[in-house]
Amino acid sequence: MRRRRRPFFPRGRRPIRPIRRGMLRPRAQRALQRAHRLMENGEYANAADLFVMLAQGAQDLGRTPQAARLFLQGGKACLLAGQRQRGRDLLHRGLDLLAQAGMWAKVHQAGERIVTELEGWGETEMADEFRQYLEKNLPESAEVYRQRAKQQPARPSLPLHCPSCGGPVRPDEVEWLDDNTAECPYCGSGLRGE
Ligand SMILES: [Zn+2]
Repeated sequence: MRRRRRPFFPRGRRPIRPIRRGMLRPRAQRALQRAHRLMENGEYANAADLFVMLAQGAQDLGRTPQAARLFLQGGKACLLAGQRQRGRDLLHRGLDLLAQAGMWAKVHQAGERIVTELEGWGETEMADEFRQYLEKNLPESAEVYRQRAKQQPARPSLPLHCPSCGGPVRPDEVEWLDDNTAECPYCGSGLRGE
């Protein structure tokens, strides 16, 4: 008899066990931990497959920012694995998700990081493509988003890695839940400022 696999993400509005919206089930959390670990160990192709699987799960449940972040990380893993076309497509998929949801500040932040990273890897043509994507799609000029990001209130510093999933924590990628707590963009756990 086949055992039914439980979904990675809690479904519906009232999960059996209370799981805070945005957080992952234990099995997904372990897969995410593994993806980050593979990434750190330079096993990029395997990391990419896991990130994409998790991203699709998040997208199925309408968790746009989380799905986008996972697709973007999957794209980065592909590029580092030498899978250029797949990497490029995944980066577009992540940005498009954010754009379709009108999350323009996130599109700008993620897009600028992509451009910087691509340039750092010598992928100047692809970097230009994403620069043009931003110019074409952002409703306001990049400078407006840069200024707006600077006007954010000062926040306490965060750990470099999420203690729950091991994901890299970048202050400009997190959402703040209150003055002292941010949300991990990968697993949704609370990150305490120091
Ligand atoms: Zn996390």
